[in-house]
Amino acid sequence: MKAIRVSEFGDPGVLKVVEMPTPAPAVGQVLVRLHAIGVNPVETYIRSGNYARKPELPYTPGSDGAGIIAAVGEGVTSFKTGERVYTAGTVTGSYAEFAVCHVSQVYRLPGAVSFAQGAAVGIPYATAYRALCQRGQALPGETVLIHGASGGVGIAAVQLARAHGLQVFGTAGTDKGRLLVLNEGAHQVFDHGQPKYFEKILAANNGRGLDLVLEMAAHKNLAMDLSLLGPRGRVVVIGSRGKIEIDPRDTMSRDADIRGLVLFNTPPAEMAQIHAALFAGLAKGTLRPVIAEEFPLARAPYAHGSLMDPGAAGKIVIIP
Ligand code: NAP
Repeated sequence: MKAIRVSEFGDPGVLKVVEMPTPAPAVGQVLVRLHAIGVNPVETYIRSGNYARKPELPYTPGSDGAGIIAAVGEGVTSFKTGERVYTAGTVTGSYAEFAVCHVSQVYRLPGAVSFAQGAAVGIPYATAYRALCQRGQALPGETVLIHGASGGVGIAAVQLARAHGLQVFGTAGTDKGRLLVLNEGAHQVFDHGQPKYFEKILAANNGRGLDLVLEMAAHKNLAMDLSLLGPRGRVVVIGSRGKIEIDPRDTMSRDADIRGLVLFNTPPAEMAQIHAALFAGLAKGTLRPVIAEEFPLARAPYAHGSLMDPGAAGKIVIIP
């Protein structure tokens, strides 16, 4: 099979296409023939060598994908060959034509959802659900700001929050991104590149503080987020690429919470709840992953470059 291998950490050019033997599933594992692969920011951090957890070299990146069960290992009764699935984790890496996964990393993909859309579910939708419902404890009728709503996690959060009955505000850096955020269900959208846009956010909520912020760029926004919160408001830190100074008093006066999250920390029972909710939304059409751009496997370096460029408008996928 064709796969991407990384033999040294570095810039996107270290993502090389190689021919390698198709792996076989062991006990409790399945082999998935991938028809689409999800590209996530964490894979660029790992590839660069600047991430806390580094895989042993050489490795095949990726955890998200969608395709068809090609073979099942001994003891697997929950899946049959030919079933459509998406992956949320793999044993062998998803940037390849085939990936071996443990059965707990594979979920059924409803028939109306394309493989490219299925590849956009694993990390982005699970993170958005965990941030909104489990860490953020969002309630219908509350107001949420999705700070960075135009990317993979943000669009998922907009759709989930709107279906959950919240007043949804989003931000994006381009006209295209803002239009997408509105189309996917936000009540109002703001430009996080404009000076003083936070004043417009408060005005849009009639001067009342926000109940919840889902934050994709805490290194830029956390101090401002705290000042936007209402009583018992919560900020869920999803993304942060550096340090920031905050005024702790902004939490005291509001009884406010800053709650971090890393999806990999999710206990198995809560992860099962997340994917049950996602399956229901995908099957009913309330969740509709939006694909920004598709790249062939050989252009994986460009996919990494494009993902880190400003101007997100949905999810970047690779078609092997
Ligand atoms: P993505 O598709 O690349 O989207 C990035 C988003 O950040 C876009 O909406 C972008 O908007 C927005 N953004 C850029 N500058 C911003 C600013 N100053 N203020 C607010 N938003 C800004 O990435 P993603 O997959 O959605 O992931 C988003 C972040 O969450 C990344 O940092 C990622 O590493 C992190 N993440 C964490 C976890 C976890 O377990 N904690 C899981 C998944 C992702 P424009 O492009 O429109 O400017």
